[in-house]
Amino acid sequence: MSNTTFEQIGQVLREHQHFAILSHVRPDGDALGSQLALALSLEQLGKQVRVWNEDGMLEKYSFLPHADLLTKPPATAEDFDVAIALDTAIQNRLGTTVAAVRSAKIWINIDHHLSNPGYGDLVILDPSAPATGEIIFDLIKSQGLPLNHDIAENLYAAISTDTGSFQYPKTSGRTFEIAAELVRDGDLDVGKISQQLYENYPRRRLELLRELLRTMRFTAGDRVATFSLSLKTAAKLGVLPEDNEGLIDHLRAVRGVIVAVFFEELTEGKVRVSMRSKDEAVDVCAICQKFGGGGHSLAAGARIRGSLAEVEEKVLEEIREVVKRGP
Ligand code: AMP
Ligand code: MN
Ligand code: MN
Repeated sequence: MSNTTFEQIGQVLREHQHFAILSHVRPDGDALGSQLALALSLEQLGKQVRVWNEDGMLEKYSFLPHADLLTKPPATAEDFDVAIALDTAIQNRLGTTVAAVRSAKIWINIDHHLSNPGYGDLVILDPSAPATGEIIFDLIKSQGLPLNHDIAENLYAAISTDTGSFQYPKTSGRTFEIAAELVRDGDLDVGKISQQLYENYPRRRLELLRELLRTMRFTAGDRVATFSLSLKTAAKLGVLPEDNEGLIDHLRAVRGVIVAVFFEELTEGKVRVSMRSKDEAVDVCAICQKFGGGGHSLAAGARIRGSLAEVEEKVLEEIREVVKRGP
C-alpha cells in the first residue's frame, strides 16, 4: 500500500464539490463498476459527479445500476475540484477523458496494477487487491461513505469480473468477506447478477471464438498458446471490441499451457496484445512492459506497432526466452 491514507482521501472527498471519475480505455467490469460505485456514493453525499470513459458504457455492462451515469467525455472541457482515475495503470490509458478535464485542483489515483508508477497527487496503490472494486469498498467502509443496494451491486460486479468469478490467485478470504458483506447488506441477487454478467453474451461472441480457434497455435513445447483476430475477420463477423473480453481464458484453461496470448489487429497499424500466465515464475507484466504495456504479473497487455505477423513473432520470441528459463 502506498503512502496516501484512506483518511486523507476521505477528507478530500468530503471537502470538495465537483468530481470527475475516470477509468481506462477498453474498460472492463472492474473499471466501470468501481466508477459507478464511487460516483453513486459521492452523489449520496450531495456532490456533483461526472463519470467518463473514452468508450462510454458498454452494451454488456449496461445492466449495472445507474449505468447511464457513465458517458463518453464531452467535447467541451469542464473544471473540477477533484479528478479520480480508477483501475488505470498508466495515465495515457485514460484516453480522451483527460482532455475533458480542463482543470482539477487534485488528482487521485486508485488502482491495483503492479505496473502503476503512482501518477497523481494522492495515490492508493494496492497490487495485492484482486480488483479496484475491493479498494473502493475499503475506502467507502473506512470513511463511512454511503453504501446502498446499487453501490453494492456495482462493487460486486467489479470484484466478480476481475477475480474471474472468485477464481484468480489474488482472491483471498477478505475478498469473500467483502462479497458476503455486499450480498448481505446490499440484498443482492447473486444468481441474477451472474446471469447478466456471464450468461447474456451475444451469439456473435461465440462465432468469434470459432474463428479464433481456427488460428490457434501451440509453441514452446505446448506451454504457450495463442490465437489472433485480424481486422478483416472482425469486420466479417461484425464483432465489437468488448466481445473478445475473456475469450483468452479458453487458451489458459488448457492443461500444460503456462502462457496464453491473444493478438488483435487494431486500425492504427498497431496490435493489441493480451497475455495471461498460470505460473508466478512467468511474469507477463514484465514481458508486456518491454513493449510499453503493463498490467499484473498473471494478466497484462500492450499495444504494439506493426502487422499481426510482425508483432506475433516479436512477442513470441520474448515469451519463449522467459518460458525457457522457467520451471
Ligand atoms: P487485458 O488483456 O486487456 O484484459 O488486460 C490485462 C491487464 O493488463 C489489465 O489489468 C489491463 O489494465 C492491463 N493492460 C492491458 N493493456 C495495457 C497497456 N497497454 N498498458 C498497461 N496496462 C495494460
Ligand atoms: Mn481494468
Ligand atoms: Mn482491475
